[in-house]
Amino acid sequence: MKKIKVHSPGTVANLVCGFDILGMALSEPFDIMELSLIDEPKVIIHNKDNFNLPVEAEKNVAGVVLLSVIERLENKVGFEIAIEKHIKPGSGIGSSAASAAGAAVAANHLLGKIFSNDEVVQFAMNGEKLASGVKHADNIAPCILGGVSLIRSIHPLDIIPLSSPDLFVTIVHPQIEVRTSDARQILRQQVLLKDAIRQWGNIAGLVTGFLKNDVELIGRSLEDVIIEPVRSILIPGFDEVKEKCKEAGALGGGISGSGPSMFMLSKDKNTAIAVESVMKEVYTRIGIDFNTYVTTINKNGVEVVV
Ligand code: ADP
Repeated sequence: MKKIKVHSPGTVANLVCGFDILGMALSEPFDIMELSLIDEPKVIIHNKDNFNLPVEAEKNVAGVVLLSVIERLENKVGFEIAIEKHIKPGSGIGSSAASAAGAAVAANHLLGKIFSNDEVVQFAMNGEKLASGVKHADNIAPCILGGVSLIRSIHPLDIIPLSSPDLFVTIVHPQIEVRTSDARQILRQQVLLKDAIRQWGNIAGLVTGFLKNDVELIGRSLEDVIIEPVRSILIPGFDEVKEKCKEAGALGGGISGSGPSMFMLSKDKNTAIAVESVMKEVYTRIGIDFNTYVTTINKNGVEVVV
């Protein structure tokens, strides 16, 4: 096989209470990437969108991932990649992870699946290091595996795929800039024991809710007493959107990754659409441009299409 095309999905990291340890893949939006093998050990990048991302391999998330794959290979081959991004960089719905995971999965397919899932995740994490300075896997793991992932540990890598009910997801991306580094820097370094206990309860409740298809438990557990109270300050309209979406029937939700996107989970499509109307109404009134998506949890992760 010399050429492959993949769809690489957006992802929601953290899932409210699971900072750095939980993530979920989305059916939409997704990036489209075409990868071919070339005879020289280098990476050639073509951007097929208007985001003006760097084409130098060392500065592009997908390039860094592919370079790390090349470094591991004995017979010196390289890659040519065409990237058509639909997930806006800096949106908080895993734009960098989609490039990283898509590149790693596509490369592994072209090479005859010589690497394990964990190795593919490790390659992809090199891309996250470039994008945010941290090798986190809470977008990468669900992007590759699909569904909901628990990242119990990074060192050593311990990823647990979780089953989940067929929920609908509504996303709003207010067009403001929240830099991942800023969103990390403002966090407090210490937590109160009482807050930690509440958070543990919520994380355990959320994971149990996913595994037992208990949507009410999922809704009750979507509470974050540690990160959200600090980070939400960076997102205008956050409290109002959250409150009104719940009134419209959403199970719950919060900041997607480090923001500025927000996500809400709903039991059915009509509720997810009503939630989207609420989001549109609030941001239209505040006067901030936005994008919305009504989608579902993607159970497949990066998908080979050709
Ligand atoms: P997101 O949460 O949407 O993934 P991040 O802030 O984590 O956003 O990552 C986006 C950053 O990574 C931007 O600064 C962008 O310029 C940089 N970047 C480099 N290459 C890529 C790529 N192929 N895809 C997305 N972002 C990239």
